Amino acid sequence: MTKGILYVVSGPSGVGKSSIIKNAMSKLEGFSFSISYTTRPPRPGEKDGKDYFFIDEKTFDKMVENDEFLEYAEVHGHKYGTSKKYIKDKINEGMNIVLDIDVQGALNVVKKMPKETVLIFIAPPSYSELKKRLMNRGTEKEKDLKIRLADAKWELSKINEFDYLIVNEDLNEAINQLISIFIAEQIKTERVTEHLGKYSFFKFEEE
Ligand code: GDP
Ligand code: ADP
Ligand code: 5GP
Repeated sequence: MTKGILYVVSGPSGVGKSSIIKNAMSKLEGFSFSISYTTRPPRPGEKDGKDYFFIDEKTFDKMVENDEFLEYAEVHGHKYGTSKKYIKDKINEGMNIVLDIDVQGALNVVKKMPKETVLIFIAPPSYSELKKRLMNRGTEKEKDLKIRLADAKWELSKINEFDYLIVNEDLNEAINQLISIFIAEQIKTERVTEHLGKYSFFKFEEE
């Protein structure tokens, strides 16, 4: 059975990752979103088990102790982690998984699963546009907003370590670009030859 692909989407807070991912995934089949665990409080409208699994610090630390995370990191002052079991199970079932995780997490995942991982960076058209989006979203207090904007600078300095770069200027264009990456990665020759052995052109015999 061919393994699924791990699509890791990263970029500064407020750049549009969630908006792009949700929209792209609604148009495709065979993709599953990895719901992270976090100690951050839920925003209005966020649902436990859908956007995140919202847990307290103690539960998080216990999960770290039990080695339940594929990766975890402290991001903008809160803890976030990716379930190891969920990723391994889904990948082995051949399911493609989409992760919305921070830059540190992305670089850790590719170290652990280099063959399966595709790294996608979403960048804003400008710093002022990023600030505008974060402010318009209105989900962070002044202090948290400042932390997120300050962290953006370091995150943007890591772009060169990613396989793909999407500049989210026009949302629809960004969605189309993400869908294109999803599909193109599936038909890479190295992956195709693994699971298309059933087609006779591989034997190239006259029928
Ligand atoms: P499927 O379409 O039947 O594979 O279902 P889903 O992919 O939607 O997820 C199945 C179950 O796993 C749901 O109860 C989800 O809440 C849960 N789930 C989704 N993502 C994660 C994750 O990252 N970690 C863990 N532990 N559970 C998850
Ligand atoms: P992230 O998940 O990266 O933190 P969100 O998806 O929450 O970002 O997007 C942040 C805000 O920017 C949201 O209010 C969203 O509606 C808005 N947004 C996303 N993409 C665009 C875009 N291309 N143009 C203008 N606003 C956008
Ligand atoms: P937010 O609080 O805005 O939902 O997410 C803040 C940051 O944490 C984003 O960059 C998001 O991608 C990242 N993040 C979400 N889940 C995880 C995770 O499981 N691991 C890591 N390393 N980062 C995560």
